[in-house]
Parts: sequence; C-alpha cells; structure tokens
Amino acid sequence: MNKLMISVSGIRGIVGDGLTPEVVTNYAAAFGTFTGQGRVVIGRDSRVSGEMVMAAALAGLEAVGCDVIDVGICPTPTIQLAVENLKAVGGIAVTASHNPIQWNALKLIAKQGLFLDEREGKKVQEIAGSKDFEFATWDKVGHRTTYLRAVADHINAILDLKYINTHALRKRKFKVAVDCVNGAGSTLIPELLDKLGCQIVPLNCEPTGLFPRIPEPLPENLVELCRLVKKEEVDVGFAVDPDADRLAIVSERGIPLGEEYTLALAVKFLLGKRRGTVVVNASTTKAIEDVAAEYGSTVERTKVGEIHVAKKMQQIKATIGGEGNGGVILPDIHLGRDAPVAIALTLQHLLEWGESLSELYLSLPQYVMAKRKIELANADLDAMMAEVEKRYSQENCDFTDGIKILWRDSWVHLRKSNTEPVIRIIAEARSKEKADQICHKFIEELTEIAR
Ligand code: MG
Repeated sequence: MNKLMISVSGIRGIVGDGLTPEVVTNYAAAFGTFTGQGRVVIGRDSRVSGEMVMAAALAGLEAVGCDVIDVGICPTPTIQLAVENLKAVGGIAVTASHNPIQWNALKLIAKQGLFLDEREGKKVQEIAGSKDFEFATWDKVGHRTTYLRAVADHINAILDLKYINTHALRKRKFKVAVDCVNGAGSTLIPELLDKLGCQIVPLNCEPTGLFPRIPEPLPENLVELCRLVKKEEVDVGFAVDPDADRLAIVSERGIPLGEEYTLALAVKFLLGKRRGTVVVNASTTKAIEDVAAEYGSTVERTKVGEIHVAKKMQQIKATIGGEGNGGVILPDIHLGRDAPVAIALTLQHLLEWGESLSELYLSLPQYVMAKRKIELANADLDAMMAEVEKRYSQENCDFTDGIKILWRDSWVHLRKSNTEPVIRIIAEARSKEKADQICHKFIEELTEIAR
C-alpha cells in the first residue's frame, strides 16, 4: 500500500512516513483556498498523532486567512454537524477512521456538512498540487477559537428526534455494554446512553487513542465485548470505529449481528414510522430491499462511498439510507453516517419491539455475505472487467459501481480498487456456504481471464 494516499475525500497516510507536517499544512492551505476566507471547523479523533496533525492543519488554514473553530476530540458525524450548525464554509476531520494506529488523515467537509464530492475534491487536489495559494500577510492571518459544545449539540439533536421517546427509554433502563475502542466516541456515546437512561457497562471508553483491539468493528474484533455482554447479562452491546461513524451491534447472547444488520434494523424501524425511499450503496445487503418491500417502500443504489449515498438522499429526499458497513444516515438530523444516531434508533426499536434483540434480528430477512479480493499485479483490470461483463451480459446486471450480477436470492459484486491492483469480490446468499461458493467461482474465473 502507498504510504500517502491522495483522493477526492482528502489525504491519508502513515504518520512520519508519508504523512508529514509539510504535507498536511500544504493540503489544509489548499482546502482553505478552496473554501475561501471564512470559518472552518476542525476536529479530530483521539489518535496519539492527532495533536500534531491538527496543529499542522491549523497552520495551513490560518496561513491562507481562514478563521478556525476548533471543536476538539469528537466523532466525525459531530464535526459534520458542527459545520452545518456553526454555518462554517467547510470543515476538516482529522481521522483515519477504522485504520490502525500508525495512520492519520484529513477528511474534508463542504459547507453543508457533507463530505466533498468528486468535483470539489478534484479542485482541492489541483490547488494542492500546484500550490497555488496566497499566504496572508500578518494582518489577514486567520485565528483559532475553540467551541466546546459540539458533543452536547449532537446529543441534544439526537434526543430531539421525533422518533426517540426519551421518557419511555429512561423508564425502561436498558443495560448496555459499549466498546468505543478508546476512540472519539468515548465521551459522547456513554453520555448519550446515560441521557437515555441506560445502565452502562463500558469497555475501552477512554479517549487515549491507544486502540486495544483492531479498530474496525468487524465480528472477529469484538471478542472482548461479546464476552462482556454475556458475563454482565446486558440487553445489547454496541461497538464503534475510532471516529464513531460506523456501528456494530452484539445481541444479548453475545453474538455480533454483523454491520449489515445495523442498517437493516434502522431501515425496518424508520419505514415502520414513515414510508419512503431508502438509499444504500451497491454492496449493501439485499435485506434492505426485502424490508423496504414489506413496508411498501423502494430502494435506490449508489456507488460505494458516503458522499454518493448522501448526495442521492439529498436529491430524492430519502427517508433513511447509509452503507452496509454499519453507517446509518438519518436525514432528519444530517446527511452523514452517524453511529450515535444508530444507537438511539436501535434502543428505541428494541423498546417498541418488546422482546429480545436476538428475536428482533431473526425477524429480519437472513443473508450472509462473503468478501474476498484477488491481487493481479500485472493484469489489465479494465479489460478483465469488460470480459466479465461480456460473459454475463445475459444475466441481471447492475453497473452502478463495477459489475454486480443479481440472482433471485443471491448476488455478486466485483469492484476494482482505486489504490491497489486488486479486484474486490463481495457475494451474498442465504447461507455462508453459498456465498463462499460464489466468491470462489469468481476468483477462479478472474484468474482464468488474467491468464
Ligand atoms: Mg469511520
């Protein structure tokens, strides 16, 4: 993997080995040139390198004349919401999301609180490449102020949601185990749970940035949480990634439901309140279509990536949407993946359901996903994809993002990676064996085509 990755969503790299203060300052100055002088919100996850990266980004922004509102350590959705609430011209989240501890990144946010789209991101890339910025003179240099209420604003916005009955939740007193991986959710999430009347069993809720498990909230990384859920006999377990935009749920039996089901649960709950269109990316579980059909609603699919989903949701005024990796987007609050929002919706859902979370999960359509990738260093990936397209042209195909072939209750999705010589293969079926089988078949077929 490259040590510094530049994309339309910002820059990402290994600290001290690609991601240096010079690179960060340059990129922040480019972003400040793009937004124009005005107020830019900046916040970060709890990573140990966060302070240094943030200082470099601050210097870049102030040097081109932006005034900076520093919201401190908080989740990415909290920063997105602050950009909107504080009427800023843009924002920067200093976070490498689910990446390991040695990584950090700048995620760039446009003035409505959405991430930059492709056109906007390319513009910033161009400015950064050409270093075409004007540094301000002493009297025009920007200044930094702090805003310490971003977390409280976010919590209040969640408590104000019309779907959330805080009074009833407080009476119910759910017992909840929560694993924040010592990330940016470590303050906000326990506080939110407390406001919702929960009895909290915390795990890794110190925002030290020292991740005690692999930060991505995949089932295999949640062993400690699952053990705690069983030992403490809680109603539900929650786990997030370091910047708390993705949520994973563990049942009262200590079994991770898989991140796809975070969104499936939220969609079921919301459509039960209000019919409408759901927007998800091309790789998200088919359970979403099945649930939507139950409630007389439809689903629109987009390319993979939060911004694609968010823009589509904005355009068609969707009821709910998100990505199958635990990223729930509820437009009633804002158009960004938001784990705290997903937590509140899940608890309210569980309250109204009245039975256990395991039973609620089993009431959903059951699918299993398999994910593989195939590395093809010297192959022409575009030609390979074209060959697959030709071979399956008689099938039901979707070309929203790469190639997706759909059968009655299974599908496969092939996507070229933007950063590596890799084709990703995702399959979903009614059983694990079937999903594995589909992946295996396509790995063999791609290998054969590459020859
Ligand atoms: Mg994240």
